[in-house]
Amino acid sequence: MSDPQSCRWWVVTDLDGTLMDHHYDWSPAAAVLRALQRAGVPVIPCTSKTAVEVERFRADAQLSDPYIVENGGAIHGETATGEAWEEALGPCWSALKPCLQELSEQLAVPLRALDELTDAEGERLLGLSGTLLKQAQRRHCSVPFVPPSMAIQPRLDALAAAQGLAVVRGNRMCHLLGANVSKGNALTALKQRLGEPDVKVLALGDSPNDLPLLDVADLAVVVPGADGPHPQLSAGVQSGRFALARAAHAEGWAEAVERLLPGKGTIFQ
Ligand SMILES: [Mg+2]
Repeated sequence: MSDPQSCRWWVVTDLDGTLMDHHYDWSPAAAVLRALQRAGVPVIPCTSKTAVEVERFRADAQLSDPYIVENGGAIHGETATGEAWEEALGPCWSALKPCLQELSEQLAVPLRALDELTDAEGERLLGLSGTLLKQAQRRHCSVPFVPPSMAIQPRLDALAAAQGLAVVRGNRMCHLLGANVSKGNALTALKQRLGEPDVKVLALGDSPNDLPLLDVADLAVVVPGADGPHPQLSAGVQSGRFALARAAHAEGWAEAVERLLPGKGTIFQ
């Protein structure tokens, strides 16, 4: 096990379905989050959420670490003097949005973008309404859409790739992104930007869009839902490549971080 004195670790985490349950509750992890902050271990959200949504979460959780938004579409942080910075890592929303319509026409299947949903549909699909729904709908570098049937996924993937784009699945929505945009590539960009190429990463996720993040982590944890881990993440768990948290959502998140983070003895006394 690494010596915590000589080796710096980041906790890099998905939010929806991983740190938060499907009602956006992360309270079972609050004590572990506080302990990490006290010990100076950065907790870096890496999520499909928008920057405005993550900023609200950071304020609630009293986090001040950098963050990765829109499935790796951009990285954000603050300078030592408190000035906010952001760096886009792929095509912008206005370039991506017409491509979703084109894919829909090529497939002859309706693909409904998140920003086109009515308030009632948004509330049913995301459990968000009013300002919170608007903050989820206003995108800068990704186009979330209602997941089509799995049967068309191979054709959708191929048509998106032909346009230099990619489609990833989160736990509620699909997301249209630039081909090189992923949570894993964004983590690499963030390490470079902060001058910490050798920092170790404990990463946590629950869905296929987290695979690029889990694949580049030094310790990768799959957080299950109430019905167990996502089927597309199970192979990595069974092979031992990914650890499995022993409870769902925030409870499992806290359990896994306390059990697995190197240096835990000095952090969680
Ligand atoms: Mg998730």
